[in-house]
Amino acid sequence: MTSIPEHLDDIQAPVMAAIAAATQSVRDIVIRDALGETAQSVRGLIGGYRDVLDMHEPVDIEPSSTICRECSWQLPNGHFFGKVEEYPCPTVTAITDALNVTN
Ligand SMILES: [Zn+2]
Repeated sequence: MTSIPEHLDDIQAPVMAAIAAATQSVRDIVIRDALGETAQSVRGLIGGYRDVLDMHEPVDIEPSSTICRECSWQLPNGHFFGKVEEYPCPTVTAITDALNVTN
């Protein structure tokens, strides 16, 4: 399964600590607050990516074949039939390429 490195999820605390240590002026405080909001947005964005990656989970259908559960058609009996998308699917590839992480 694809995973986003934890260091991308934990950027806010060390960045904010470094900024707080260096903050001296009112302008620095305004910049610090803006960066804090940006860091929170990045955390939300990464969380969204993680949710999408969790939906597009790999399924081993044969010893040498792995498909994407979300992008493939699954019959009520659990078998995959018709549209079968290899894993990593285009969605997973797009996200991992954008974040420069491997799967
Ligand atoms: Zn997929």
